[in-house]
Amino acid sequence: MSERPPTVHVLGTAQDGGFPHAGCDCFSCEAARKDRSLRRRVASIGIVGATGQCLIVDATPDFPAQMSLLGEAAGREGPSIDAVLLTHAHIGHYLGLAFLGREVINADRVPVYCTRSMEQFLRTNRPWAHLVERNDVEIRSIRPGEPLNFDGVEIEAFLTPHRAEDTDTIMLDVRGPEKRLVYISDTDFFHDGLVSRACEADVALLDGTFYSHDEIKHREILEVKHPAVKESFPLFEGAKGTIYFTHLNHTNALLHPTRAPDLPDGFALANDGMSFTL
Ligand SMILES: [Zn+2]
Ligand SMILES: [Zn+2]
Ligand SMILES: [Zn+2]
Repeated sequence: MSERPPTVHVLGTAQDGGFPHAGCDCFSCEAARKDRSLRRRVASIGIVGATGQCLIVDATPDFPAQMSLLGEAAGREGPSIDAVLLTHAHIGHYLGLAFLGREVINADRVPVYCTRSMEQFLRTNRPWAHLVERNDVEIRSIRPGEPLNFDGVEIEAFLTPHRAEDTDTIMLDVRGPEKRLVYISDTDFFHDGLVSRACEADVALLDGTFYSHDEIKHREILEVKHPAVKESFPLFEGAKGTIYFTHLNHTNALLHPTRAPDLPDGFALANDGMSFTL
């Protein structure tokens, strides 16, 4: 098969609960219910390799649509993917795996890349264990710091500090022949190592869950830690490439349909449908 430059496709940019957010009647969610163009799928990216192989990062509750979008981006005839990579076991990031089971796709050994801790979680909890036992998926362990080669793309996983009720959390440094993209959708904060990784990349898609910590109630923020966009600006000033914010919570001021704040130069909002050539 002829080779082409690998690409990364933004398949979703909302926090785990989606946008509009289930059960919420805030101004932004109501606006997104009325106007479909405002809606966002749950955070995910897809990688199309040099010969058109497709890997989807996270299996979100929007997995069926995201799988089709990725197949389309790769120029495939029908909706299909070649591999899944799971970052962690929060609901927005793995529930979609259920679609690979016999009730839906009845997949045949789709490789699922994840850490040992995620593997343990899948093997010991139902319905996920069914997928493993019935050979719908084949788990392939990845270790932080040991890059995986996927169809002309080098994917290095690294750990982020993120509340680990069930599993650890990995995020990705994706390198193609020309460019490097860093994906950090979920972290409690940006430590120096994460900041320098993102600043050195040609493109960085970063956790922008909240615009400011004032937007949710104090008790909640203590339990659900994510960096605030406002506090991230000084950290990433002078980054090599554009910093795109993703994993946006419905409360984020950047999602307000009429009075979203402007972002400083060098920063932008990630949008569903964007793509980057590696
Ligand atoms: Zn998340
Ligand atoms: Zn809302
Ligand atoms: Zn998470």
